[in-house]
Amino acid sequence: MINFQFVRTSVVKTALSLIGKDPKAAFIAGGTNLVDLMKRGVIAPEKLIDINHLPLKQIELKNNILHIGALVSNSALAENALVKEKFPLLMLALQAGASAQLRNVATVGGNMMQRTRCGYFYDTTMPCNKRQPGSGCGAIGGYNRMHAIFGTSESCIAVHPSDMCVGLAALDAQVVIAGAKGERKINFVDFHRLAGTTPEKDNNLQKGELILRVEIPANNLNKNFHYLKVRDRTSYAFALVSVAAALEIKDGLIANARLAMGGVAHKPWRLTASEVFLRGKPATLANCEEAAKLAMKDAKGFGENDFKLKLAPNTIIEALTIAKSKA
Ligand SMILES: Cc1cc2nc3c(=O)[nH]c(=O)nc-3n(C[C@H](O)[C@H](O)[C@H](O)COP(=O)(O)OP(=O)(O)OC[C@H]3O[C@@H](n4cnc5c(N)ncnc54)[C@H](O)[C@@H]3O)c2cc1C
Ligand code: SF4
Repeated sequence: MINFQFVRTSVVKTALSLIGKDPKAAFIAGGTNLVDLMKRGVIAPEKLIDINHLPLKQIELKNNILHIGALVSNSALAENALVKEKFPLLMLALQAGASAQLRNVATVGGNMMQRTRCGYFYDTTMPCNKRQPGSGCGAIGGYNRMHAIFGTSESCIAVHPSDMCVGLAALDAQVVIAGAKGERKINFVDFHRLAGTTPEKDNNLQKGELILRVEIPANNLNKNFHYLKVRDRTSYAFALVSVAAALEIKDGLIANARLAMGGVAHKPWRLTASEVFLRGKPATLANCEEAAKLAMKDAKGFGENDFKLKLAPNTIIEALTIAKSKA
């Protein structure tokens, strides 16, 4: 581990000015991913800007939109009364992540920005286009059991490891970002990127920008919902495949459907075609199976992860079945 400077501020403007002046600086929030990456030599920031004292810890409902500050911990968010009542899908997604101890310090902004768990990315002796552009991809033709089946490229087949982000993608959240030029807002589903030819870029946050908050518009998806995460152990393990499913059922028909997957792509993978198919139909097993079939249309395995081609549709069907069966 290299030496680095450590500065702390409680003012957003100062945080932006500090990062803007120094291309080798990084924000640190809970530190649960950043410090691991530094210890392994994957990244080597020369300055850490501690943002834990910025006023970004609010969870409040304003004009029917839930505002969640970027520094809210994953456990505080999962335990919040508004989240439990109005956005319980997000609660389940959060509870599926990491361990209780990690969730106590992991923040919303940090969770969105966490790097992939691809083993080649963490092993600095191995080729990895994400860590070192142009060095090759160890996972293609190598160990790729955890890797993507959707939206892959010849440069990278890594997945985004977050659970929380799958819930937020399904809930049509938006991200509010601050930079030198002021604030901007983007749809959550557009925050993370596909790897394409630039796998070193995980998302569309520009250098020098800070995530301020996430906003979720009110919905009627708090009755029939489920987050189903399939993993090697029942806790403290990343998703092989996960599915966030929420249905609004009116008079026996699906008025609104939301579906997103984790563990299958470089970004939370929203299943729009399946949602459109389900709308206006009864939530029968046959319709759930057809929605899962539609979702798998462009899936591609890379050898060791071929099992996901079966696991993914089965997980979609099971998540929908549990969601529709809730009273
Ligand atoms: C053993 C283990 C198991 C885990 N299992 C899971 C799991 O099952 N599911 C899951 O979802 N996650 C899991 N995680 C990941 C964990 O959730 C993340 O490490 C955590 O959410 C990161 O948040 P943090 O606040 O600690 O971020 P940090 O480590 O402090 O920062 C991560 C990155 O985010 C940037 N950053 C932080 N805040 C902001 C901001 N406001 N604006 C801009 N940039 C910012 C930092 O500069 C850094 O690049 C696991 C982690 C570990 C160590
Ligand atoms: S899948 Fe992506 S992160 Fe993993 S080795 Fe290939 S380029 Fe690196």
